[in-house]
Parts: sequence; structure tokens; C-alpha cells
Amino acid sequence: NIPNEPLPIRRLQESLINRIAAGEIIHRPASALKELLENCLDAGSTSIRVTVKDGGMKLLQIQDNGCGIRKADLPILAERFTTSKLSTFSDLSRITTYGFRGEALASISHVAHLSVVTKTKTETCAWKAHYLDGALVEGKPGQTPDPKPCAGNDGTTIIIEDLFYNTPTRLSALRSTSEEYSRILDVITKYAVHNPKVSFVCKKAGSPSPDLSTPSSSEIPQAIRLLYGHSIAKDLLHAAFSSKKKPEDEDEDMEEDSGTHDRESWAAEAHFTNANYQSKKMIFLLFINHRLVESSRMKRALEAVYSGVLPKGASPFIYLSLQINPRDVDVNVHPTKKEVHFLNEDGITDQISDTLQRSLASQSNSRVFEYQT
Ligand code: ADP
Ligand code: MG
Repeated sequence: NIPNEPLPIRRLQESLINRIAAGEIIHRPASALKELLENCLDAGSTSIRVTVKDGGMKLLQIQDNGCGIRKADLPILAERFTTSKLSTFSDLSRITTYGFRGEALASISHVAHLSVVTKTKTETCAWKAHYLDGALVEGKPGQTPDPKPCAGNDGTTIIIEDLFYNTPTRLSALRSTSEEYSRILDVITKYAVHNPKVSFVCKKAGSPSPDLSTPSSSEIPQAIRLLYGHSIAKDLLHAAFSSKKKPEDEDEDMEEDSGTHDRESWAAEAHFTNANYQSKKMIFLLFINHRLVESSRMKRALEAVYSGVLPKGASPFIYLSLQINPRDVDVNVHPTKKEVHFLNEDGITDQISDTLQRSLASQSNSRVFEYQT
């Protein structure tokens, strides 16, 4: 029914705007969890414990031992665009934290019930606060919305209940609690591989034993063994490589604003299975500047490398961590930050494919050699 006269344009209500915006960032329990995990890591945590009920739809709780949140900041914590990580636009080009927009907690408060218990080192007790639609609310009827003192350890616990209670379409699109739980485990598993110094635990509420548990101060290959199993770990190759910027394309402000990335335009580290390992589905963990991202271009390029080594239908396990000068990466292209853009994507992809190819070739040569003796 096309109107024959134009309808008036009206301003959407603030609460509707926020709910729509939240839907772009928080797709499902696992996307909420990813934001929360990143906040824990930004806060310098070495221990992160996740508790889940009904695939995260009923309860998603995440406890860390990071720096905590100052009591004075609690009133604006869940407002949109409040952050401790970014203050000027140019900060975006040297961002080293996961967060920068101050949208995660706000978004969550628009599609779920959000509670926070937090304690900094200098506070003598923890503070508990409840949020709805961006603002502090009372925990129980008759209470004031102000944060309440309570017992608690240093660090922060974020509690999300009844996710998507007010967006029924989103809720009914989620398939099953077990599917959502396995997505949650998948996100934690990948971050746990990439952060082997941090201890991760994930369990279902009420279950005595965790479904995932890693020690602190481990190393990446040990983490892969623990989380993905011995059959992958025993067939892993390792490559670490970097590319130096040619002197002529180096500009003079390179050093002052790029910290550890001086002179190198990028560096990569990879742990990947050799030709002895064959899986039905490719397992690909890609981190760019420590962010878990997806890149179909990189994935296709690596699939092509392995198609020369593995039989048809067989796939590898690949962990790839790329570090690129933050100045050359645009992290602000996707609402869930799962895609990033970076300069020289083709060149970097080619060089990585080459390195893996050579490494696999020399390994399969030695296999042939072993076979002949
Ligand atoms: P962003 O991470 O983009 O800043 P968030 O909405 O995720 O936005 O978080 C808002 C702010 O809340 C952060 O900037 C940080 O100061 C604080 N915060 C959130 N989670 C934690 C945490 N687990 N530990 C310490 N501070 C936190
Ligand atoms: Mg964040």
C-alpha cells in the first residue's frame, strides 16, 4: 500500500533509537560476551570467569580481576558514548584497547537487565549498581537507584539477565540454548588461545564443573593443545615473521606515534597444522591487533595454500595473529568490529600465504624423505 501523499517525517523516540542501535551491536549472547571479554582484557585482568544460564539468554555473568570502575563513574557507565578509552578523533588511529566507542554496556542496558559489581584497589568495599535503558535504576522496589556498597573482590562482575526481553523478534530468531552456548564457548576458546597468560573459566550456572578452564601464564601452543586437543597440537607448525617498511615510505612521524611498531609495517605469528592433520571444517582464528576478526579474503588465500597440500575435502587448523601499525588499520567499519580494514591487505595476504606455503612444503619434503629411508 503505497501512500499517494507523503507521510510526515517524525523524530524517533530516544528509547527506540537506542534499541535499534543496540540491535546492531548485540546480535546474540555471544556478541554481548565478546564485548564484555574485551572490556575485561582492556582492564588488565588475568582471570576471567563466565557463568551462563540458558545459552546466555537468561543469564550471562562475567567476573574479572581487572582495574575495576571508579564509583564516581557508575552513574554514566551505561550511557551511550561514555568511555575511558578515547577522547579525540586522532586517538582512533593509535587505539590499542579493544573498546573505544562506549557503546557496549549502553547497548546491553537497552536490550537486557544489566547489573555491575565493581571494586578498585583503593576502595574499601565493592559497589553494586543496576541499569536499564542507559540509566541507573533501583535494584529492588523502594530502593534508590544509587550504587550500593557490598562485599566483593578487586575487579568487576557484569551480570546480564533476560537478554532481548524487549525485542521478541530477536529472541525468537535465536535457535537454541545449546547453539548459543556453543557460540559462547567458541568466542572464549579463541580469546583464550590468543591470551594464554590469562586464565579463562566458563561454566553453566549450577554446574559443578566448568566446560572450559585454562591456567594463567601458559603459552599459545599449550593453550591450543588444551582447547583444541592433542590431534591438532601434535601436528602444529609455527612461523613468526615481519615485514620492514622500506626506508623511502617511512615518514618522519612514524616513530613518535607508533610505539612498538617502529619501522615495521607489520608482523605476524602463526600456528598451523601440517599436512598430516586433516579436518572436515577449517578452524581459522584470525586476530588483527589482538581483535578477533573475520576476513574472507585471508581465509580463501590460506585455503588455496592448503589445497596444494591436503586431499580434497580436508581442512587445516590455523591460528594467525597479525600486528599492524594501528595507524594503518581502520577498526571503525563494522558495528561488532568483526571486520577491520587495513592498508596493503593484498600484499600482506600474499606474503603470509607464501610463508605458510614454504613452511608446509619443507615439512612435506621431510615427510617424503622419511618415507624413502
Ligand atoms: P568501551 O569499551 O568502548 O569504552 P563499554 O561500554 O564497553 O565501552 O564500557 C564503558 C566503560 O566502562 C569503559 O570505557 C571502561 O572504563 C568501563 N568498563 C567496562 N567494563 C569494564 C571492566 N570489566 N573493568 C573495568 N572497567 C570496565
Ligand atoms: Mg567495551
